[in-house]
Amino acid sequence: VIEFKDVEKRFGDKTVLKDLNFSVERGERVTLIGPSGSGKTTILRLAMTLEHLTDGYIFINGEPLVYEQRNGKRVPVSNREQKRLRTRIGMVFQQFNLFPNMTVMENIVEAPIHVLGLKKEEARNRAHKLLEDVGLPEKADAHPTELSGGQQQRVAIARALAMDPQILLLDEVTSALDPEVVVDVLEVLRNVAATTDVTMLIVTHEMSFARDVSHRVMMFDGGKVVESADPETIFTNPAQERTKKFLSAVL
Ligand code: ATP
Repeated sequence: VIEFKDVEKRFGDKTVLKDLNFSVERGERVTLIGPSGSGKTTILRLAMTLEHLTDGYIFINGEPLVYEQRNGKRVPVSNREQKRLRTRIGMVFQQFNLFPNMTVMENIVEAPIHVLGLKKEEARNRAHKLLEDVGLPEKADAHPTELSGGQQQRVAIARALAMDPQILLLDEVTSALDPEVVVDVLEVLRNVAATTDVTMLIVTHEMSFARDVSHRVMMFDGGKVVESADPETIFTNPAQERTKKFLSAVL
């Protein structure tokens, strides 16, 4: 459902990702692990078109997202087409990123109404259902500032799911939270994993969550995939020394 092909990402003269190739199948949940600075967040931001792709291609359902090959040349995909493909992708960030001047309900229905063209009534009904799913049915009229970090993050998850994405990108969604609410947010995500077939690409430092929820774990270092395997293999019997070293430092 999502494929990175020969991807390269540079910031100025610093190369962060090089010759990166991987794909994630429909319904698959893949977690990216690796040391700080290895490029994990950059991968999610590229998939969300929040960063410029220096070289290579990203495909969504086989369709090019930002660049395509035409007559042997690498040419940009039209804005309109990019926008269309991007509606299939939802992202939840470390720092919630809710619109502070809108209520919880307004945050959730904004994109479904303005991007997908849903009727207000329908968008609101879906939002109520999603707020129940994330355990916040009574918070529809609250403003983000009235909510705890954990509650804001659960709203952010509901907002991403309101677009009914095929692919959900989760970027260290618990890193900015107090330890006691991390478990609530992870519980919501475990539930999403158990009850939907949304494809997930996850960056997290929560190794037990990664282990429970992923079909596959990819270890990154220096902008490259060091090792990619099922969580059982990665966490109990990794093939690469680099993975062993990383895990012994974080577990
Ligand atoms: P962490 O776990 O710390 O979030 P990460 O693996 O997600 O690390 P990235 O955030 O993707 O790593 O960053 C990869 C590298 O790219 C880092 O060295 C970072 O400093 C650099 N980088 C990221 N964004 C920018 C930017 N906008 N300008 C310059 N360099 C950047």
